[in-house]
Amino acid sequence: MSIKGIDFTGGEPLLVKEVFEYIEKARSLGLEVSLNSNALLLNKEIARFLKDNEVYLYVSIDGSNKDVFEKMRGKDNFDRLLNSIELINKFEIPFSVIFSISSLNYFDASNMVRFAKNIGARELCMIPVIPSGEAKNTRIYIGSDLLIRTIREVSEEAEREKYSVVLWCVPFMKSMNFNYVVIDECHVLDYIDLAPTGDIMLCDVIDMPLSEIRTKSLLEALKEVEQNKLYNLLKERDKLCLGCNVATFCKGGCYARAYILENDISKPDPYCPKVLSPSR
Ligand code: SF4
Repeated sequence: MSIKGIDFTGGEPLLVKEVFEYIEKARSLGLEVSLNSNALLLNKEIARFLKDNEVYLYVSIDGSNKDVFEKMRGKDNFDRLLNSIELINKFEIPFSVIFSISSLNYFDASNMVRFAKNIGARELCMIPVIPSGEAKNTRIYIGSDLLIRTIREVSEEAEREKYSVVLWCVPFMKSMNFNYVVIDECHVLDYIDLAPTGDIMLCDVIDMPLSEIRTKSLLEALKEVEQNKLYNLLKERDKLCLGCNVATFCKGGCYARAYILENDISKPDPYCPKVLSPSR
């Protein structure tokens, strides 16, 4: 099916003991493998396994110091994280850092640039917490203005440090000119988002299955996805914001935010400033 790779994410995939078997299987089929983990369960054995199987690691780190980090990840876990990073570097496992921007850590976002650089990460990936799941109840997501201000500060720091930062789930920022910050586009049409239940999801932050592979082959399931009304609506999103100079890249921004905050998947991203004051 020309699938290039598989990314194991969670929750925390290292809590699933079969994950190693899955990784070996994927590698034996020639797939590229990456793993999103908080790395707190990493030990020598796991590090050696990841190295031997050429796994690319995305390490979730929510703060550049003990205070901020442990607000999210619990007491005494910052030192555990630093030990894991030491192991990752000892075994020369290539890795990136993922920082989820929330109300608990946005003020630490620009410090993360130097932190990620110093610990040897190839790049720092940042993603705003989407107001879904637990984050909707705890309200730890931040608003558009604060998010944009935070990203500007990150960009200035990235420039000072000459270090690469990738921003996920904010495609509307494409119109701002950054030198070291890369705005990633939404990959919904290139990726299959597979839940542990076997459901193929529209996006991992909204609970909308499009098909499943419990009773169907992946090929059959993908045919069903192709016919799904919502999925086809996403293909039309580049026509949503007429007159916007980055519409073909941004495609109306994050549809998950539109769905969660506006209850309508076919609306543009409510976090885009051009949508907030539509004089494009
Ligand atoms: S106006 Fe629409 S297409 Fe343009 S940046 Fe905003 S959300 Fe994206």
